[in-house]
Amino acid sequence: MKAFYAEEQKRHDPKAFLSSGAAQPNPEKPERVERLLAGALSAGCTIERPRDHGLGPVAAVHTPEYLDFLEHIYARWQRIEGASAEVIPNVHPIARNGSYPASAVGQAGYHMADTACPISGETWQSALWSAWSAVDAAETVMSGVPAAYALCRPPGHHAFADVAGGFCFINNSAVAAQALRKQAARVAILDVDLHHGNGTQGIFYARPDVLTVSLHADPVRFYPFFWGHADERGEGPGLGYNFNLPLPRKSADSAFLEALEVAFQRIRVFSPDALVVALGLDAFGGDPFGGLSVTTPGFSRIGEAIAKLDLPTVIVQEGGYLCDELGDNLTAFLTGFGGKMR
Ligand SMILES: [Zn+2]
Repeated sequence: MKAFYAEEQKRHDPKAFLSSGAAQPNPEKPERVERLLAGALSAGCTIERPRDHGLGPVAAVHTPEYLDFLEHIYARWQRIEGASAEVIPNVHPIARNGSYPASAVGQAGYHMADTACPISGETWQSALWSAWSAVDAAETVMSGVPAAYALCRPPGHHAFADVAGGFCFINNSAVAAQALRKQAARVAILDVDLHHGNGTQGIFYARPDVLTVSLHADPVRFYPFFWGHADERGEGPGLGYNFNLPLPRKSADSAFLEALEVAFQRIRVFSPDALVVALGLDAFGGDPFGGLSVTTPGFSRIGEAIAKLDLPTVIVQEGGYLCDELGDNLTAFLTGFGGKMR
């Protein structure tokens, strides 16, 4: 399978984030890339550098003011006397019915959901190349190849059309789905990350052409808290085209695979022309987040099950944090998926 990745994606190196109010090392580390590359190579992938696709495919799912913010906020932040080294918000609108702020501090609060997505001088380029990896994977699949893997880092599924959050800046899975729409009338996104894909849900919430399905740890006491509940079903023309399957904490392989079957039923009825898998590997029991208890052989079975949908598939890397098995879990998924490929 072809895999896409550019070295620039490794330069973003966030230092800290707040967890229950306490400063902690940011777990979205550049070293993740090494583990994931090793995992993809073990699965037999060939690694290719994506092309520069410009802003078009990114602007197809994000607002112009947000992209302008992402590109320029770091330089603006440096001009504030006494400001932090990385852009981290400290004030947020309680609702977005006020005015768009002119100041860097105000815009950081407007465009950043939480403290887990610090922006440094490297963030914009890393996020752009990450999205371009997703675009190249989508173009590969549109050329008739059954599947491709995008080693997207930084990840994307917590990024809304104009809000960063949860280590995410540009929503790579949404970029891939929108790119696929050039050929595919209907696209399904299946998000198997430990955390609910709230940004992806938000981007497509009112649209019936992209079905969003997410399996994740129940957000009742877990990030992203405000989204990911079963009663969030879409709105307007998109009503019925968003499907959330929250799982009890510590659910293991059998419960995950059962929920996956329920997801497949919805996807089959939707009858998509292409699939995006938002592949978080943090549902692993040994992941630092420890929210679910999927095993390494479990990822292989998940890959095998998804391949049975027999759809042109773009696999987009989402979460999955440093632990000894991170690379093995990617190998397991890709091997399980590939074993069922024609
Ligand atoms: Zn996650």
